[in-house]
Amino acid sequence: MNLGQWIRDVADFPKPGIGFKDLTPLLGNGAAFADSLTQLVRPFRDLQVSCVCAIEARGFIFGAAAAIALGSGFVPLRKPGKLPAQSIGTDYLLEYGSDRLEMHADAVSPGQRVLLVDDVLATGGTLEAATRLVSMAGAEIVGAALLIEIAALGGRARWRESAPLHSVIVFD
Ligand code: AMP
Repeated sequence: MNLGQWIRDVADFPKPGIGFKDLTPLLGNGAAFADSLTQLVRPFRDLQVSCVCAIEARGFIFGAAAAIALGSGFVPLRKPGKLPAQSIGTDYLLEYGSDRLEMHADAVSPGQRVLLVDDVLATGGTLEAATRLVSMAGAEIVGAALLIEIAALGGRARWRESAPLHSVIVFD
């Protein structure tokens, strides 16, 4: 299935100059959503993933489904101040300003095999921060799975892991 047809480009959202990749048409079609999941997890099926760590908020949709498909646990990586128990965090730079990702301190254990999941790879800063956070906890990263990669923004160059970075739909 050509999944790109289910992604809607919304110009100037959430601010002028941004071309937003809207996934809601894909999510709203059962066959497209199911196929996107099959393609998202395919390279990781035999890698004994113990835990999917997914990035708030749209990453949760695909991350939770991927965890079920892989028979693994699910860990949310959240925006600051959302997690109730003791947490660890890492700050990262955005085009304008900065942001922070947090994870419960006991969410992953050293040696666990983690798959990172998010919806879109743009400049790569968010995925880089997620990688740092999971590495801080001592877990092993077996790869990253993204539904969309916006190749022109160069995020892939910031992926320094030897594990695979897999994106289902690549836009120029
Ligand atoms: P980046 O850190 O630049 O790779 O941005 C990736 C994060 O921002 C992901 O969690 C996406 O949900 C979101 N994002 C960035 N750019 C877009 C875009 N053009 N369309 C939809 N989401 C985006």
